[in-house]
Amino acid sequence: MSESSSLTQIFQAGGALAQAIQGFTERKQQLEMALAIESAIKDNKQLVAEAGTGTGKTFAYLVPALLSGGKVIISTGTKTLQDQLFNRDLPNVRDALKVPVSVSMLKGRANYLCHYHLQRASVEGRFQSREDAQYIPIIQSFAEHSKTGDKAELTAVPENATIWQNVTSTRDNCLGQECPNYKECFVMEARKQALAADVVVVNHHLFFADVMLRDEGVTELLPSANTVIFDEAHQLPEVAGLFFGEDISTSQLLDLARDTTVAYLSVAKDCVVLGEVVPVLEKACKDFRLVFQFEGSRMPVQKALSLKKFEQAYTDMQTALAKVTEVLETQAARDPMLEKCWQRGESLLQQLDSWLKASNSNLVRWVEVFTQSVQLHATPLSVADSFGKQLSAQPRAWIFTSATLAVKSDFSHYIAQMGLHAAETGFWESPFDYEAQVWGSD
Ligand code: SF4
Repeated sequence: MSESSSLTQIFQAGGALAQAIQGFTERKQQLEMALAIESAIKDNKQLVAEAGTGTGKTFAYLVPALLSGGKVIISTGTKTLQDQLFNRDLPNVRDALKVPVSVSMLKGRANYLCHYHLQRASVEGRFQSREDAQYIPIIQSFAEHSKTGDKAELTAVPENATIWQNVTSTRDNCLGQECPNYKECFVMEARKQALAADVVVVNHHLFFADVMLRDEGVTELLPSANTVIFDEAHQLPEVAGLFFGEDISTSQLLDLARDTTVAYLSVAKDCVVLGEVVPVLEKACKDFRLVFQFEGSRMPVQKALSLKKFEQAYTDMQTALAKVTEVLETQAARDPMLEKCWQRGESLLQQLDSWLKASNSNLVRWVEVFTQSVQLHATPLSVADSFGKQLSAQPRAWIFTSATLAVKSDFSHYIAQMGLHAAETGFWESPFDYEAQVWGSD
């Protein structure tokens, strides 16, 4: 039996999907789309596929992906779809097809509890609120019993509780292999499982954060992936732009100030000058925020530069950061956390400097103002070049699908935006529209 005829049988009325999944109905567009995806996977092609509502595009890519026998990364635009795929659609299709495929879900590191920072926070005992202090024993018990450390499983602590900042890690403050908790680390475990799985579900933010920052675990996954599927692919240009750009936020400086204070209080209290320079940095960041009147505003760099006090406040922030970094350098050998803070200081200094002097004509500089912080953006006009390099790095299939990619059936805008010049395209109308056309009803 050819692969195509097996797909036909799977999707047809009474086929494997209809038998196993309640309410499944045969749709001509869905089968056509699945066949196009199957062919793209087989020949390592790029395919941009728009499927109208009701086409059933999720099954249209899951079936050929699960039957392909290679490693597949599926990336979604939202965490909701990521959870839905992993918890519902993937197991359903896998069971219907009866294929022994292992699946895994990988989220960004901020989603996983960090043993090391939990311990530090508990010993340190400096919390933003009484509630935060009350959450600690609940989180400690979760750390002992959870298999994944995924904070979504601990519903007793709200997802937006400020305590999570103290008990999760960032790329900047993770100690990696030097960490005393490395062996039991939830982040490392999630990555290990993702490496071993046949199908891994990630999200676009994680995908690009990792490809650019080489942190979150996808970089390790990519070399062995035969197929990458982006669902909700219309969101990619914006997400990719965020990561291919060069952004820096005052909250990164404040995070550094916070972590430096924690390290100072626990291992470097005799370094009095460190205790003195950190509050100066915190004040400089807050003063820089006060240069802007309104939160929620976005402005081009020229307008920001013309604001009274912008230049002075920016320089003060750079000077204060340089001072903290200088003192950290003298203390770095005492503790891995201090060493990390020193490296972060160095890199933030360089980022602040290059944002101000940016001369790359593909980058648009702009400023975004939040209640407590200011984000300095340098966004590429086009992600085509940067993303194009990813596409050609190794032969594999790339599938881009969404309900809204084309403009009047024309994909050229999307293709140019993403640098998908070799891509084939496919367009499947909603079965609802199709029926309406065939039967003339509305
Ligand atoms: S390796 Fe990093 S994320 Fe894991 S426990 Fe240590 S500091 Fe936390």
